[in-house]
Amino acid sequence: MMRFNQAFAAGEVALVGAGPGAADLLTLRAVRLMEQAEVVLYDRLVSDEVMALLPAKCRRIDVGKKCGQHSVSQQRIGELLVHYARQGLRVLRLKGGDPAIFARLGEELDALVQAGIAYQLVPGISAASGCAAAAGIPLTERGQAQQLRFISAVDQHSATSQDWADLSAPNQTLVFYMGTAALGEISQQLQQHGLAADWPVLLVQQGCRPQQQIQLTDLQSAAAVAASLSTPCLIIIGQVALRYRQQQARLQLPTALQAKEQAA
Ligand code: SAH
Repeated sequence: MMRFNQAFAAGEVALVGAGPGAADLLTLRAVRLMEQAEVVLYDRLVSDEVMALLPAKCRRIDVGKKCGQHSVSQQRIGELLVHYARQGLRVLRLKGGDPAIFARLGEELDALVQAGIAYQLVPGISAASGCAAAAGIPLTERGQAQQLRFISAVDQHSATSQDWADLSAPNQTLVFYMGTAALGEISQQLQQHGLAADWPVLLVQQGCRPQQQIQLTDLQSAAAVAASLSTPCLIIIGQVALRYRQQQARLQLPTALQAKEQAA
């Protein structure tokens, strides 16, 4: 029988991916480390379902960020990690999705390295993988999408700094993180740079959570739905999104069968 006892040393920091929401999408390694954690610093994106797996005695510190406004500054997060590690505690830094994707991991590693604190990294299922699976679509497809791009829509000077001509090449899938507010701008730019008005756009709100909502739309209509989106929301743009129809058809199948049975 294989054992999964990931060591978590006293005074060490584990930077762990919490995945997109559902607790059973955590890695076994993440769960083992969570069980040993003595203090946790977590983000707003970490779901309640995942938080519920932490030991009752583990101290919980919310360093969540909302809409780009940091309730706890990145510098302060670094200081807190170092502070608790120096007390000899097992410090868990729990981040939504994958800690290496749009999660300011580099800055936190800098703080740990400068202070000489030992750390380990544990990957998580990023929103792109989680939301694609939830929608029943691939992210790449032979002959159709040979490139997959993860794009942050809220980088400084975002709209102007993107290479829109490059992003408008048809043989790729674009995944925009943090893109709700910029959706109108994104769809406008992509159309101006050559993508068709009916180019597929899939919006996955609260993916892999009980409140999950998925909408298939296109570039010309995307801006209109942007205002009513709940967060977190992931934007997947490209032909692969059309496969969501297959998933919808599959989900409707039981009802269609029932109707047939009732008619018979
Ligand atoms: N490290 C995270 C991303 C952090 S950036 C990861 O790897 O997933 C935050 C953005 O991620 C959100 O604005 C949203 O675009 C996306 N996101 C995270 N979790 C999500 C979820 N459950 N459903 C939809 N989008 C999600």
